[in-house]
Amino acid sequence: MSMIVLKFGGTSVGSAENIKKVAKIVIAEKESNIVVLSAMSGVTNTLQNISNLLSQKKIDEAQLEMLNLNQKYNKVIQDLFDSNDHFVKASLMINYHNEVLLPLLEIEFSEKVEKVILAQGELVSTNLFQLYMEELEESSNLISALDFMTIDDNHEPDTERIKESIAKVISKHPRSKTLITQGFICKNTSGEIDNLKRGGSDYTASIIGAAVEASQIQLWSDISGMHNNDPRFVDQTFSIEEISFDEAAELAYFGAKILHPQSIIPAKEKNIPVLLKNTFKPEAKGTLIHNGANPQGSDVNIRAIAAKDNITAIKIKSYRMLMAYGFLKKIFEIFEQNQTSIDMITTSEVAVSLTIDDTSKLTEIIQELEGFGSIEVDSDLSIICIAGNIAQNKKGVTAAIFNCLTDIPIRMISYGGSNYNLSFLVKASDKIAVLNLLNKGLFTSEATVLVN
Ligand code: ASP
Ligand code: MG
Repeated sequence: MSMIVLKFGGTSVGSAENIKKVAKIVIAEKESNIVVLSAMSGVTNTLQNISNLLSQKKIDEAQLEMLNLNQKYNKVIQDLFDSNDHFVKASLMINYHNEVLLPLLEIEFSEKVEKVILAQGELVSTNLFQLYMEELEESSNLISALDFMTIDDNHEPDTERIKESIAKVISKHPRSKTLITQGFICKNTSGEIDNLKRGGSDYTASIIGAAVEASQIQLWSDISGMHNNDPRFVDQTFSIEEISFDEAAELAYFGAKILHPQSIIPAKEKNIPVLLKNTFKPEAKGTLIHNGANPQGSDVNIRAIAAKDNITAIKIKSYRMLMAYGFLKKIFEIFEQNQTSIDMITTSEVAVSLTIDDTSKLTEIIQELEGFGSIEVDSDLSIICIAGNIAQNKKGVTAAIFNCLTDIPIRMISYGGSNYNLSFLVKASDKIAVLNLLNKGLFTSEATVLVN
């Protein structure tokens, strides 16, 4: 039986009014479905704060935060339910989840305690939604992610086990059109409550989609999919109708808010289309991410342009590099030891330039690099990323891109790392001009290459 997975993020379930919108969308869905919910917006942050306060033994402050959270929930259920019966049930449920936290005030703080605390957000939001569906007399059942979502010792989803367990859980509800479950939370190999790290609900949806071989995974948030350019700086942007997984992954670094690339791996592997939709504009088409978006031999498609600020470039110049081997390894090791990830790299015969966005260890890194040659550091740069089907064997793409930029100084260019990306580095003060020039040159009637 084909199923679809619908995941709603924190804002989508962030108030009684929004929960009602989510219910409408779920009810309108004709196929049987699994609904994955995040915690209400802000709740996981509050729970993290409670946990931090407990770890610092600030018990009174932690209790106060718990009280505030309880009040927030109480307000929501007053607005959500019409029947007294369901209001009372919801109120008891919220008290129960608050009471789960109480004994934790007494015991020694540990990571295990933190994970139990963090799990309460999704447990509450899903229970609330189930009660609301019940009040509407809509067919739905709650299934606990803790009964099937398991991770292995490497903290990775245990796919085989999840597939078996979820099948068992689903088979208990043969007549249910909608099954509701929690994003983010799971159990580890010791059977303890754990999670898929912050923002992990998309990952949950994708893992579940792969496990049940869903026909589609829908990720509902407060934006209408991906845009071809940054609407904050460029007029006349449009939302991308379709994009391949590879292109979407290239863009993820630039708009982490949209999607973490890891979260769609299970869907990509099983070839399940992922549709990004907006809970507050359900009529908008959204963006479909699927493998078929780039058929082999298809034309050049420039899909999207994105930028990332606060980039620092480091140049290491050394004649010792000339015809030597192992030089890059030694340089990269310095970044590894300082737990700093490198984004772009370009090399010449006697120099290497690379970029980082986390400068917390910059002083240490520079000190260590000085042993290899002369170092130059430029800050306040922006990476511009062009994503699309721009394989090296396609003519005219690079020319079309750089023809737009004849007046812009470019610090670094990276092309050929993948078939789907060309990135370059400019001064942050040129970023808005660059985004607009590219938009005009690549996405309007003046464009000289085929775009989508
Ligand atoms: N509630 C969790 C968080 O805020 C998971 C998620 O929303 O994806 O990180
Ligand atoms: Mg979230």
